[in-house]
Amino acid sequence: MNKRILLAAAAALALPLPALAQTDVAALRDAALKDDLAWEITEGLTTEIGQRLAATEAEARARDWSVKKLTSLGFRNVRIETFKMPVWVRGEEKAEVLGGSAQKLVVGALGNSGSTGPKGVEGEIAYFPTFADLQAAPAGSLKGKIAFISHAMTATQDGSQYGPSGGARRMGPSIAASKGAIAVLIRSIGTDYHRNPHTGGTSWAKDQKPIAAAALPLPDAEQLERLLKRGPVRMKLTITPEFKGDGESGNVIAEVPGSDPAAGIVLVACHLDSWDLATGAIDDASGCGIVTAAAKRVMDAGQPRRTIRILWAGAEEPGVFGGRAYFEAHKNESHALAAESDFGADRIWRVDFKLPSSAMAMGDRIVSALAPLGITRGQQPAGGGADVAAVIDAGSAGIDLQQSGLRYFDYHHTPDDTLDKVDPVQLRQNVAAWTATVAIVANAPEEIGRVEKAKP
Ligand SMILES: [Zn+2]
Repeated sequence: MNKRILLAAAAALALPLPALAQTDVAALRDAALKDDLAWEITEGLTTEIGQRLAATEAEARARDWSVKKLTSLGFRNVRIETFKMPVWVRGEEKAEVLGGSAQKLVVGALGNSGSTGPKGVEGEIAYFPTFADLQAAPAGSLKGKIAFISHAMTATQDGSQYGPSGGARRMGPSIAASKGAIAVLIRSIGTDYHRNPHTGGTSWAKDQKPIAAAALPLPDAEQLERLLKRGPVRMKLTITPEFKGDGESGNVIAEVPGSDPAAGIVLVACHLDSWDLATGAIDDASGCGIVTAAAKRVMDAGQPRRTIRILWAGAEEPGVFGGRAYFEAHKNESHALAAESDFGADRIWRVDFKLPSSAMAMGDRIVSALAPLGITRGQQPAGGGADVAAVIDAGSAGIDLQQSGLRYFDYHHTPDDTLDKVDPVQLRQNVAAWTATVAIVANAPEEIGRVEKAKP
């Protein structure tokens, strides 16, 4: 379409022309395929700070690093918004099979695990092949036993097994404790055969006293299953993490001020904290690199219509404390749209939307701009990542740029989540997709209103 026809079409629809034409978006997208900033941020954060466990001194150093970085890149209103949260730190971790096949297994405590005390606990293993088997166990049937939940997970492109398989980690320990278990082992919620435990948060029912809860790497979980086929197994576990009371975490925020404050904020997020076993390169330093590099490219192309707000959330891993604090602090502001990058840095292959009817055409423009990157439109409603889910649930529009999950759960929450797992070529494809998306949303001439609640 030439410019005259475009002008006529815009006039006929009584719409202002898009501040950025699709050709400009395409140029921004293609330039982003040579991006170095996302890598620079990912490399810097993982190298200079290292692991960034929520509400620890390391996470505080990461916030200071972030403020310096975001300020030096030219973003405005760079600030830290602190909040309080309970602090949990890892202790000693030992797992031993007792008796005729005495041997050590590798184990790693789950976040929010209770402690066995320094002397450890001993008990017979009560084996549950799946999470549902544990749920079906009668009340009181685990008295004095160590529950072992061996729920398997398969790698998929959309990562969809993490939701259902993750129940064994998120809820299994509390359920086992309520039935009398003295400790819990789970098969790691992961897909690799390295001897790396996959940690991750577990949560306790309101009146449930935490017991020790830890993950076995897949080779160790399968070793234990083979031993159980031969007869009853007794184990000794020494797991001594500590709850340290309330500490401070915080969100880091930076902005590209828009020309039209009434048009709503475009919120792009990642999380700054990581688990403590590694440097959190794919979870989620790379996410911060991706959204920030995209926002910087859109900023450098000229002032956008909408304010772009970057959120590097604190304390996502132990229970989305940063996302909740952000929502509480900013729920009365108008968010036009929210999106988060928190699934590694592998190639984006699908885009999902949650848009009001007023912005459907904007969705179509995004689909067109992403097509040359090998990204197609999905049929799932966008939910955002954990840190922006509350904003989207409250009625804002959302976009999910879905990354391939085929490798993600080989490294997720393990000692192997390190910089070498980030592929610079795929990282740049992410930046290109986010740049095109943010450019279109931030400059869209149409209003992006509240999304009507879906009817059941
Ligand atoms: Zn994450």
